[in-house]
Amino acid sequence: MTFRTSLAGFLAEYLINFRMWRLFHFSFTCNVFIIMRKEKKAMHDETQRVYEHVLRTDPDQKEFQQAVYTFLVSIDKIIEDLPEVTYNRILERMTEPERVIMFRVPWLDDEGKIQINRGFRIEMSSAIGPYKGGLRFHPSVNLSIMKFLAFEQVFKNSLTGLPMGGGKGGSDFNPKGKSDAEVMRFCQSFMTELYRHIGADTDVPAGDIGVGGREIGYLFGQYKRITNQFTGVLTGKGMDFGGSNIRPEATGYGLVYLSDAILGGNGMKLDGKTCLVSGSGNVAQYTVEKLTELGAKVVTLSDSSGMIYDESGITPEKLRWIMTLKNVRRGRIREYAEAFKGVEYIERDATKPNPIWDIKADYAFPCATQNEILKEDAENLVKNGIRLVGEGANMPCSVEAERILMGSGVLLAPAKAANAGGVAVSGLEMAQNSSRMQWTRERVDSELRTIMNNIYRNISEAAEKYSEKNNYVDGANIAGFMKVSRAMIAEGCV
Ligand code: NDP
Repeated sequence: MTFRTSLAGFLAEYLINFRMWRLFHFSFTCNVFIIMRKEKKAMHDETQRVYEHVLRTDPDQKEFQQAVYTFLVSIDKIIEDLPEVTYNRILERMTEPERVIMFRVPWLDDEGKIQINRGFRIEMSSAIGPYKGGLRFHPSVNLSIMKFLAFEQVFKNSLTGLPMGGGKGGSDFNPKGKSDAEVMRFCQSFMTELYRHIGADTDVPAGDIGVGGREIGYLFGQYKRITNQFTGVLTGKGMDFGGSNIRPEATGYGLVYLSDAILGGNGMKLDGKTCLVSGSGNVAQYTVEKLTELGAKVVTLSDSSGMIYDESGITPEKLRWIMTLKNVRRGRIREYAEAFKGVEYIERDATKPNPIWDIKADYAFPCATQNEILKEDAENLVKNGIRLVGEGANMPCSVEAERILMGSGVLLAPAKAANAGGVAVSGLEMAQNSSRMQWTRERVDSELRTIMNNIYRNISEAAEKYSEKNNYVDGANIAGFMKVSRAMIAEGCV
């Protein structure tokens, strides 16, 4: 037997290879499972049984398991007082999608060659309204990521107070480097299958990573053509064809409104503070805009290639430049460092902790993707005195990172609550479409602010009542869960 083929040899090689170790860590199959095992043992029978069922039935779906686990840890705190939840097997039903749709998306590239991608739509829960949630086009998309996003969406939508169920969809199609014509042909092919599963009263998709105004326009056009109906079947539409004011801004603005409310409740403020923002897409851009408007200074942004550090701050003029770079020219954030003086660009190195989280600042807003803050990143944030982490992205913190931040007294605004502004304004877009009206910017912005303040009140009250003050993770999970659970019990065994 060679050294390579023996188990010990394989393990040694595996651990020596730091890159592999980091990936191992990233997919959170080592340390995090130790936490899970420890905490799982302390769980009540019901929550433990549900979690073990998910591990058994979806063994390869790490992101979905992570989302379910974090949720169950919160629900575990109230499960003893809710025998009707156990009797009605609510948790098992919540972790099993109502419907999973997977389909082939064939399309022609600019050279006339056939390309094939995989399409998804997860219709997770329609307990409190039609399925609602975005579409993600990114090469990393798989069933686990789709299911984790759909699961989170159910409770996020519940927190908005609007009648929306939860869903998510997308494809492993990579829009980066594709021509507009290729993106259009892909979107048309994607919708040619998806259209039969969605509808204004059934399932209403929107955007997410890789799906912005351009993609929503192409998807809507194809839906309209196939069905001969002009309905509010998609949100995030252009203002000329049924879109809502403030929808592009909503997730970023909502994140800042909720974070501001949390800070205010803890005697802190945004004005004059330094902030870290990751990503440079839709959520990041409008987070920067609102933070700056409220007197904070944002010093970082990133994309999947690297990050920029602009110590003097990203001004509104510089942000406009970034919006053209990202939304029109579709360029890389590196170009910002070439265009403006005194800016540092750091190339991404997936084998090392993310340098963006190792910069001294007051507050941090991860707005790129899931698991972008790992254990060492959280330790760096704590070391540098960060007081609040506002999650713009979905599940940006690993389980370990979340524990480290909260254990160190960092205020954590969880994604379910913090990025709910996007879907909230999508809900308002649906209301405007149903009534054939278009509200003013001021009206939508004021509704958004009210919704985010209500979310803050609900998650704070739930945290104090069922968990502990400032545990907004428990607060959001429990407050979101209660409404969906009551509706499911009322609707019977369906
Ligand atoms: P965009 O596609 O507009 O931007 C995504 C940004 O994140 C880009 O800068 C992208 O860089 C970066 N990014 C994506 N994947 C990775 C990765 N694996 N590693 C490093 N950087 C990455 O998406 P959004 O701004 O719409 O979404 C960002 C996050 O916010 C997502 O988690 C999404 O689920 C969440 N969200 C979005 C909502 C919305 O309304 N759009 C609503 C609620 C949540 P690059 O261009 O190089 O890929």
